[in-house]
Amino acid sequence: MNEQLKFLVELQEIDSSILLIAEKIESLPGKLDRFKTPLNEAKGSVEKAKTRSEALNKRKKNKDLQLDEILDKIDKLKARSSEIKTNKEYEAHLKEIEGFEKNRHRIEDEILSLMEEIEKFSGGLQREEMKIRKVEDEFKQQEKVLEEEKKKLHSDMEMLKAKREDFAARIDEEDYNRYMNLLKRSGGEAVVRTKNEICLGCNTNIPPQLYNDIKKDEDVYNCYYCKRFLYYKEEPVTSDKESQEAPPVS
Ligand SMILES: [Zn+2]
Repeated sequence: MNEQLKFLVELQEIDSSILLIAEKIESLPGKLDRFKTPLNEAKGSVEKAKTRSEALNKRKKNKDLQLDEILDKIDKLKARSSEIKTNKEYEAHLKEIEGFEKNRHRIEDEILSLMEEIEKFSGGLQREEMKIRKVEDEFKQQEKVLEEEKKKLHSDMEMLKAKREDFAARIDEEDYNRYMNLLKRSGGEAVVRTKNEICLGCNTNIPPQLYNDIKKDEDVYNCYYCKRFLYYKEEPVTSDKESQEAPPVS
């Protein structure tokens, strides 16, 4: 093969690999996003459960204070019992105590049911927190896997870039500039194969004379239509048929 063309073909192979790796690197954050949703959902339910639990505890604390006040009042009233002189006064006094006792029982009942609710709720909160730890572990694991993948991709990329510099330096400046323009313009494909008098870059026919010249491999040629660099590569006769008939790799 013409030496310049050989370098161009090699450079194209390297650049195709570089583009593929760049695409893979770009898709990495998206892979982590899929794990972010369940994590955020789990965090959301824990936050909600915590807020509810705090509200319940606050309500219980208020009730405890109310109960303390009432108990205090009852104690004070009872202490005054000995000072009462008349029966009428005594009846009124007992009624007052009775009223406070009623309130006391009501508040004690409320506190009891709040305590039950709090207990039930803390069990639910514990389950939610366990769930979040599980989801968090999965997220961290995935983050680690992706971090490793990223490292590997970047090191592959560095290797390819070094190799690329080596080949780029061996290509004539004019051809190299043309190659770079084509690469940008035509979706990362500046050097393409020809087959059966067709440019595989744009699928147009190549004039027979040009096709023969390309096959001779003595110079660098470009497609008349898409301007890509063209080369010819002999293939084993059955290879295309086989690859077409081969079952898809899953
Ligand atoms: Zn073409």
